[in-house]
Amino acid sequence: MMKICLWLTASVVLILVCMAAPGWGATPRIAQQANQPKAENVAPAEPRLPPPPDRYELSPQKRAEAIAYSHIRYALYFAGVALALLIYFVLWRGGVAVAFRNWARRLSRRHFLQCLVFAPLFFVTVELVEFPFDFYSDYIVEHRFGLSSEGLGSWAADWGKSLVLLVIVGTFIVWIFYAIVRRSPRRWWFYFWAATIPIILFLMFIEPYVVEPLFFKFTPLQASDPALVAQIEKMLHRAHLRIPPSRILEMNASSKTKTLNAYVSGLGESKRVVVWDTTLKKLTDDETLLVLGHETGHYVLHHILKEFVLDELISLGFIALGFVAVKRLIRRFGDRTGIEGEGDLASFPLMLLVLTALSFFASPAVNAVSRHYEHQADQFALEVTHDVVPDPNAAEAWAFQILGEQDLSDPDPNPFIVFWLYSHPPIDQRIRFAMSYHPWTEGKPMQFVHPGEP
Ligand SMILES: [Zn+2]
Repeated sequence: MMKICLWLTASVVLILVCMAAPGWGATPRIAQQANQPKAENVAPAEPRLPPPPDRYELSPQKRAEAIAYSHIRYALYFAGVALALLIYFVLWRGGVAVAFRNWARRLSRRHFLQCLVFAPLFFVTVELVEFPFDFYSDYIVEHRFGLSSEGLGSWAADWGKSLVLLVIVGTFIVWIFYAIVRRSPRRWWFYFWAATIPIILFLMFIEPYVVEPLFFKFTPLQASDPALVAQIEKMLHRAHLRIPPSRILEMNASSKTKTLNAYVSGLGESKRVVVWDTTLKKLTDDETLLVLGHETGHYVLHHILKEFVLDELISLGFIALGFVAVKRLIRRFGDRTGIEGEGDLASFPLMLLVLTALSFFASPAVNAVSRHYEHQADQFALEVTHDVVPDPNAAEAWAFQILGEQDLSDPDPNPFIVFWLYSHPPIDQRIRFAMSYHPWTEGKPMQFVHPGEP
């Protein structure tokens, strides 16, 4: 699920970044593993005994593991971008895309049918070349650090499903993209940007119905833990907020991963809050309520839509830059590489090369927007659970501590890495904030939740 989001982000438009739903922990890692016993919704019954952590603390061994794991993930991110750039470069300069375009032309004169041949060939080639990297990154590394519970068969099946999704969505976007470029050689960058707005909104809307069920099972939390849902209702009622219980779902993440998370996805009628069964199993009810408070914050503060608007604005500037770069590159190298112009399908790897480079440089801006809303959601969780949970500060701090230990979050990330890659504030900062934000003890008003008002 995230694989296709990330791929589309890098390849089709920068803004598809926002399809990655705002989660509770770090960006959800979907491609993972089986044989993990089904988590039962038996949360630890006893409250945590030691005082709540006021910072993120790990045993020396865990700390070393978390640092090693995080560093591998950072390296894999940069290596992944470099690999994608290299693949697009070779497909462009090596004449592979020109060959694919020639085959497509031989089979049909119609643009749409040419896309039907060219795009699947192109996407399957890229994915096959990237396969060893994906396997190492998503399977080997996750297993080595004990974060995965997914078997090889299940992982391979997910890889195949992602590829099918990519081919379907990608072919459609290639068709639209080149139809626009051919019709408007000077302003395609703007029209294509405008066209991505309804396309992305539509993809965000159908994602919970079409994409997510391909990888996981979703059941109403109401069915497995009505008591918890009753508490959630109470928490929301206090803030005059409402999310129908049918929109609060449990996901069987334990079939593939040992990590914890929760997230919101969808848009309008498809908008919902999802909590992983791994989270329900590891956290106490109070801690789970804080997690759900965070997700309901995303939900009621309309973060998905707001992030989408901001990311679209960021991407407009980058797409305009991409237009200029692509034009110059084709003018300079077009003859030598057999590309006949921007409207030629053979220019696709060059387009992706430029877009991947630009989306890489857009990453700090997109992540800064995300970290801002994630911080808001952390604050919202404390406000909405105040008076519902005996000690929301302790519960949130504990929830982050457990999340960090379980997901091997970096205890001390480099500020540059945070600036470039982090969609959420570092876990240590989140714990410190959780323990320090309590306007109710200082007689100050809360920012987002106003229990007294109708
Ligand atoms: Zn979040």
